[in-house]
Amino acid sequence: MKILAINPPVEDFTAYNLWAMPLGLFRVMEHHQKAGDTVEYLDLLDGEYCGYAGAQPPQYRSWGRHSYWKKEIPKPDELRFVPRKYNRFGATDERVLELVSSLERPDLIFISTGMTYWYRPVLKLIEILKKVFPAVPVKAGGISATLLPDLFIMDGVEVIKGKYDINKDVTGTDSSFINALKFFPVNLVEGCPNRCAYCSSSVFNPQIRIMDIKKQAQSLEKWHSVTGCNDAAFYDDALFLDSGRYLKEFLSFLEPGKYRFHTPNGVHLKELDEELCRVLREHDFPQLRFGFETAFTRYDSKTDIDQLKEKVEMLKRAGFTSEQTGVYLLCGLPGQTVEEVDKTIEIVAEIGARPYLSEFSPVPGTALYELHRTESLLDFHSEPLYQNNTVSAWRSPVFNSAAMSGLKLKLAGMYSKMPRVS
Ligand code: SF4
Repeated sequence: MKILAINPPVEDFTAYNLWAMPLGLFRVMEHHQKAGDTVEYLDLLDGEYCGYAGAQPPQYRSWGRHSYWKKEIPKPDELRFVPRKYNRFGATDERVLELVSSLERPDLIFISTGMTYWYRPVLKLIEILKKVFPAVPVKAGGISATLLPDLFIMDGVEVIKGKYDINKDVTGTDSSFINALKFFPVNLVEGCPNRCAYCSSSVFNPQIRIMDIKKQAQSLEKWHSVTGCNDAAFYDDALFLDSGRYLKEFLSFLEPGKYRFHTPNGVHLKELDEELCRVLREHDFPQLRFGFETAFTRYDSKTDIDQLKEKVEMLKRAGFTSEQTGVYLLCGLPGQTVEEVDKTIEIVAEIGARPYLSEFSPVPGTALYELHRTESLLDFHSEPLYQNNTVSAWRSPVFNSAAMSGLKLKLAGMYSKMPRVS
């Protein structure tokens, strides 16, 4: 069979590549390659060929981070009230049509999907594919397709809910396509034992599964020998599971200092112990990011304020600086107050870590989605564009624009007094 796998463009206020790539789609691609199929990959978000006249080209920062091809576009009518620019990231529809039309007719097309509020360019892509390749079956998988399947189910499009039935030894990192990446994606533990009320991790992975750790280390070494790059990002939801047992095993196959490791998903404080801190320090983790959310109104059981203090001290004893100890906070949760978030920012800074503020976005199928529906000023259930975290200040009856500006100003003031992070 001839397979075409596509990563679609995005439309949003902002988007930036902090070690993002469609790992699920890569698993499907690797599976078909191993089965003897021909696989063509079209990255309409991040491919170099997405470029066109009048667009802003990607800018590369250290460690494999970069922006996408970008062009300002009119805001959808539903978002006109937001005083921010709206952009197309990746190829425009015209460029998509051009690129798709230049390909041979495939037998089957796979599309990955990202955030729920990115659904519109995906629908447009499907429309183009149906025009160029009528009667070719299209399968859509990934976040939006799993959480909001009805948006995508249409004539000739099948939604792969949850997981595609692939061999257990498929990692998504063992194909030639991985060599085009400037960083290597690692996933040691699938799933998460916590059940935070705002997270859909268990929808995608109801069970914890440990991947083939040695094989992932070998794939990383292989990728490095071809590309010469040395940045790797973990895609795990519970990377530190069992006090980092699986991470330690993975690192034991690798020479300390050879690779730079990044944890964009956030790691769990409660699993840290002296031994894990030592191993992390021995290897190169330029900045750890811990998921903490908030000091008082908790919708999870993964940590608490005392544990935060204890673990940050442990990291300091191991030699991590404040800039290397990032703590993700979440604001706009139902029941949370502005004062509480303000206080949490202060606590995190006082104990010597660097606070990062994320705005809550409701995820379909989670408990907080339903709770937020009862208070939200925007009907995000009927219109997924309103699930965007950028419009949280217009949804929340408490965290309005003035409150958010105050919190962001406070953080900016703090950052200006802290050493810069790369
Ligand atoms: S700990 Fe993180 S990944 Fe696990 S359920 Fe909570 S938010 Fe999701």
